[in-house]
Amino acid sequence: MSWDHEIKSIMCPCGCGTIEQETKSDDWGRYEEGTPCIKCAKCYNKFNLITLIYSCPYKWKGDRRDYYLVPKDADLLVNYVNDYPIQQAWELAKNNFSDALIVSYSFEQLNSALSELKLKKSVTSLTGVAFEISKMRKRYLNSAKIVNLRIEVAKAIEDYYTFNGNYEQLIKQEKHNDIERKKYEAKVRENGILLNL
Ligand SMILES: [Zn+2]
Repeated sequence: MSWDHEIKSIMCPCGCGTIEQETKSDDWGRYEEGTPCIKCAKCYNKFNLITLIYSCPYKWKGDRRDYYLVPKDADLLVNYVNDYPIQQAWELAKNNFSDALIVSYSFEQLNSALSELKLKKSVTSLTGVAFEISKMRKRYLNSAKIVNLRIEVAKAIEDYYTFNGNYEQLIKQEKHNDIERKKYEAKVRENGILLNL
């Protein structure tokens, strides 16, 4: 299987050089594009190359990448927050399954799961969040007994608000940063030159 390489080239903003981009494609219809390269000393000193990636909800369409040349003195500052560490649930599960629950569910969801776990005798009759939690434990730890789930969900509830970076905090942080990311992208579009590659 071989890749076909192609170099796309357009004139740079000052007109003294070029912006080049390597793309490759193969017989299977795969396509990859490289980051464009500023082949002009003047423009290289004046601009930053910024890539905006728009992920498409329709997976078969793939992501779109737009490339902008943004003046180095442009104000692109936004207010991202990183108050809470992002920890992977499966990593946490190795040491302590209740920590994995804390980053995966809201306080209310855990409480409703615990109520159900107290009523049911086996995992086979679980529904809703309690069912999801039993599946998660099987996936991460290869077992899900109702006695363990009761203890771990209760522990997650107990530790919820002392844990740094619980699900509720992470969602709040993520929503805030999403808004800031959109502001940043708007600033890039306002200040930058879209490359027509
Ligand atoms: Zn130039």
